[in-house]
Parts: sequence; C-alpha cells; structure tokens
Amino acid sequence: MRIEDRLFLVKFNPDKVSHLRIISPDVCEKCAHKQCVAFCPAKVYEWDESEKAITIAYEGCFECGACRIGCPDLNISWRYPRGGCGVAFRFG
Ligand code: SF4
Ligand code: SF4
Repeated sequence: MRIEDRLFLVKFNPDKVSHLRIISPDVCEKCAHKQCVAFCPAKVYEWDESEKAITIAYEGCFECGACRIGCPDLNISWRYPRGGCGVAFRFG
C-alpha cells in the first residue's frame, strides 16, 4: 500500500481551538527559509504572502511533534489537543 493510501485512512476529530500557535509573527516574517512549511508532514504550515504570515491548518496535524524542535527560532508553541480530540491512526 502506498503511503498516500495509508494516510487516507487517518481520521481526525478536530478541537475547536488550535493546539498550535506562532509565538511571534514578526519572527516568521524575518525567517529566511520558512522551514516549518517544508518539514511538517501534514502540510499544516503555509506562508501567506499577502498577509505576510504563517497560516496553521491545525485540524490536520499528525501530532508528530516535529515543530517543537524544527523551527530554528523555537517560535511555535505546541501542545497536544484536548482530550478526545486530534488525530486517530488506524493500523493494519
Ligand atoms: S520556521 Fe519558525 S520562524 Fe520560520 S516561518 Fe516557520 S514558525 Fe516562523
Ligand atoms: S506536530 Fe507534526 S504534523 Fe503537527 S504541525 Fe507539527 S510538524 Fe506538523
């Protein structure tokens, strides 16, 4: 089975509030490479050129934790979604 097919099986129960937050938007605006856009496997982070800001599609987060350490400026506040919310992986 291809990885894309496996990811199609992942289910989400999104929280009403984001469990991910940019600490300082100014830091993102000056960030040269916007690494979060590249390293997030769920493509949660996107750079909005018109708004000059990172957008966060937190509903599709895999909770892998990479963005806790991947941002070179540690500019992402990360926690798990509230109980019962978030990603649900199906195995097999
Ligand atoms: S890598 Fe960090 S500082 Fe750079 S755009 Fe992403 S969240 Fe902002
Ligand atoms: S925890 Fe993983 S999947 Fe979720 S936003 Fe961070 S890098 Fe992306």
